[in-house]
Amino acid sequence: MSMTDVDPRIRTAAQRLHAQLSARGVDRGVVAAMVRVPRHEFVPADVQASAYEDVPLPIGLEQTISQPSLVGKMTEALRLNRMCRVLEIGTGCGYQTAILAELASQVYSVELEETLSIDARVRLRRLGYRNVEACVGDGYQGWPERAPFDAIIVTASAPHVPPPLVAQLKPGGRMVIPVGHVLDGQELLLIEKDASGRTRTGHVIPVRFVPLRRGGEPDE
Ligand code: SAH
Repeated sequence: MSMTDVDPRIRTAAQRLHAQLSARGVDRGVVAAMVRVPRHEFVPADVQASAYEDVPLPIGLEQTISQPSLVGKMTEALRLNRMCRVLEIGTGCGYQTAILAELASQVYSVELEETLSIDARVRLRRLGYRNVEACVGDGYQGWPERAPFDAIIVTASAPHVPPPLVAQLKPGGRMVIPVGHVLDGQELLLIEKDASGRTRTGHVIPVRFVPLRRGGEPDE
């Protein structure tokens, strides 16, 4: 991926954002991956000018692309390497997917909304990502046909940790997931499965995500 042929104003804003992420201590490998992903290509034209501000942006259908510093923190928590198979729940516009694809071996991404999934697939292909497989489905169920995974990232908030996702995590694997209700506050959890299959849960930071919907309805 190259940012050399983009509008110089976009390039300057991108450089500023990436310097901010480094200054905040986001892992160097993760920042290097974020530098290679042109965030302005993932957002609607009317918000492209804000693509390199550290803010969430609307991507249509009342969904949002997370702010870059949060994308960085969540990605860092997964401790990815070139051997990892990663499951993402909530493809959205595919921005987080692209960053995972820069760092892992293979990315599997599940999205409930067919139009978002198709647009993301077209965009990722155009940008040259070949190690991404996407499908339309209810991410609460994970992707059993492609399991197990070294890492799982959920980008919509669930009322509880979906048991199918825990089951699809390899021993030694990591999952990041926002859990809680919009009004009571949500917490980003890091769940680690040890070699014997036991899980340990840590709290990362308070967050605010759109809800994970099951069968098209908010899940209570
Ligand atoms: N990672 C995305 C963030 C999208 S917001 C990005 O970078 O753009 C959360 C996404 O989760 C939305 O696209 C929403 O449609 C999707 N979603 C909500 N409930 C879901 C479910 N049960 N299964 C899969 N995707 C879901």
